[in-house]
Amino acid sequence: MPDLSRRELLTIGAGAALLACARKSRAAAGPGWIDRRAYGPFQVAAAFPLTSLDRELSDLGRLQSELQRTLAIRPPRQTVDVYLSADERSHRLLLSSQFPRVPYRRAIYVQSGGRGAVYAFDHRELPIDLRHECTHALLHTDLAMVPLWLDEGLAEYFEPPAAERAFGHPHLRALRWNLRLGMVQSIASLEARHTLADMGAAEYRFAWAWVHFMLHGPIVAHRALTSYLADIRRGNPPGQLSARMAQAIPRAEEQMIRHFKHWRQS
Ligand SMILES: [Zn+2]
Repeated sequence: MPDLSRRELLTIGAGAALLACARKSRAAAGPGWIDRRAYGPFQVAAAFPLTSLDRELSDLGRLQSELQRTLAIRPPRQTVDVYLSADERSHRLLLSSQFPRVPYRRAIYVQSGGRGAVYAFDHRELPIDLRHECTHALLHTDLAMVPLWLDEGLAEYFEPPAAERAFGHPHLRALRWNLRLGMVQSIASLEARHTLADMGAAEYRFAWAWVHFMLHGPIVAHRALTSYLADIRRGNPPGQLSARMAQAIPRAEEQMIRHFKHWRQS
């Protein structure tokens, strides 16, 4: 169940970008960072020793190859900064000093001036938050834009450890209950959600569900997604993914429901 206050992505507009960039260098040089390590494209600076997180952080490098394998997302041509505070209080202070007008988030991906940075702090679910935010980072370093619902659906999909993504996501159980009760949200209805305030727990769950369907369901659904992302990458007007899906799969909602009805680990 997503806690909506816990993490998000933020794309800073041109006006704010300079401010964020100027302050970013101060954060990077902050006296609190006692451990710095690189994991794939991610340059991690932490206010605590990273030794205990080393295995989880190594997964971030594999996350990049997984996005490349499943969605043809290209490896980033530049590094992504990851700032890990020691506790929630210092994380709050850092965010409020760098982004004073942004509501507090437990973890956040910020894109400014063409560069991306992730901010989070040390707690039990940090590895989940990191995979979620770093998925946003990898998508946005390759693609000029990603629709909000799809961005969140992909980040939700890739946030568990790799072995739990297909069958072990907490969304799966809640989604099955929704579907049993006849609750469903179409891609078109998710496309109409343009701000994070429009994205409640159900929207996150159904965004995840459609991503799961496109990655594990009929091959034509997967092709609709990858060709959509390829058009964004090439700068072609991508239109709406819902329209592509309707063309590729008649009655896509019924197919999605059926996909989850029969989705079992053998
Ligand atoms: Zn997110």
